[in-house]
Amino acid sequence: MPSSVEALANLPLRDDLVGLHPYGAPQLDVPILLNVNENTYGVPADVHAAIVEAVAEATQGLNRYPDREFTELRKNLAAYLGHGLTPDQLWAANGSNEVLQQVLQAFGGPGRTAIGFPPTYSMYPLLASGTGTRYVTAARGAAYTMTPEGTARAVRDSGANIVFLCSPNNPTGTALGLDVVEAAYEAGEDARAIIIVDEAYGEFAQEGTASALTLLPGRPRLLVSRTMSKAFALAGARIGYLAAAPEITDALRLVRLPYHLSAITQAAANAALTHADTLLANVEAIKVQRDRIVRELEALGLSPAPSDSNFVFFTGLDDPHRVWQGLLDAGVLIRDVGIPGSLRVTAGTEAETTAFLKALATLL
Ligand SMILES: *Cc1c(COP(=O)(O)O)cnc(C)c1O
Repeated sequence: MPSSVEALANLPLRDDLVGLHPYGAPQLDVPILLNVNENTYGVPADVHAAIVEAVAEATQGLNRYPDREFTELRKNLAAYLGHGLTPDQLWAANGSNEVLQQVLQAFGGPGRTAIGFPPTYSMYPLLASGTGTRYVTAARGAAYTMTPEGTARAVRDSGANIVFLCSPNNPTGTALGLDVVEAAYEAGEDARAIIIVDEAYGEFAQEGTASALTLLPGRPRLLVSRTMSKAFALAGARIGYLAAAPEITDALRLVRLPYHLSAITQAAANAALTHADTLLANVEAIKVQRDRIVRELEALGLSPAPSDSNFVFFTGLDDPHRVWQGLLDAGVLIRDVGIPGSLRVTAGTEAETTAFLKALATLL
């Protein structure tokens, strides 16, 4: 029997997919999972009860297709985000990954180019290749920062049709200044580039960090994506969304699959949104642990990046793989993002954070 690699090589796979590797953060059975930036608090009891009740009701109508326009969800998302947004400016899909894929399907594709600024979210190049979009990259400055001038130059020089700005950035954790977003938008004027600000971790931002949602008025090519996977502790439910000009959501309707958001997904999302306050209380608790990790890593002589997210990226390790493995042996799984001297850890509950910090101190 051929190995699965040989079997795959025998398939008439699209040329541009040959040799690519699927997204693959390890899913290991470890007591403390701090590797993929999930919300480790779990779903609070009142949110759980509300979702069960809403899903039970939705189940009674499962013989019918769901509301294709997810009308109630758009209303709830607009109310949750605020900033004067209206339901026709909201779009949702099965995770913000699907939202981003739909954006590429509508505005990318063969003959078009997307640009990213690594190290950044590893899905951008995969979503680009899946949609036949060329993906190019531009370098960041010192300590992974981005400046308005450097970003504008990269956007202009690349002639990109789609610009991925991840803020707070995964894996480094730091948010972008809005001046960077504005500069990217203006530099994309000639190519009429779509500027996507991926705010998957927006709720975890530090006081005073502004959301790109504030820039939406008057900028029809600006898109801000969010997710319920992180702050809302609903990674398993697969709900992501974006806010943009109404004509953007019209464009996305052209590429979405019919009835892409199941009635169960819509019911779960709506129920969770009615309990946003409970969920955001856990966000505050996670931010406390996040700031604690930054302080304690500094005390250990490491260099954590400033974090506006629910994770901390840190450098200063001689042998990150040894530390990663040592933590795993101690029952703590974190992420090796492949950047020399560095690792990334999700902020968990107080107990999980303590376990991580203790195990790390022992290893150093
Ligand atoms: C986790 C994450 C997402 C969210 O993906 P979902 O499909 O909504 O679960 C999007 N962007 C970034 C940068 C992320 O880290």
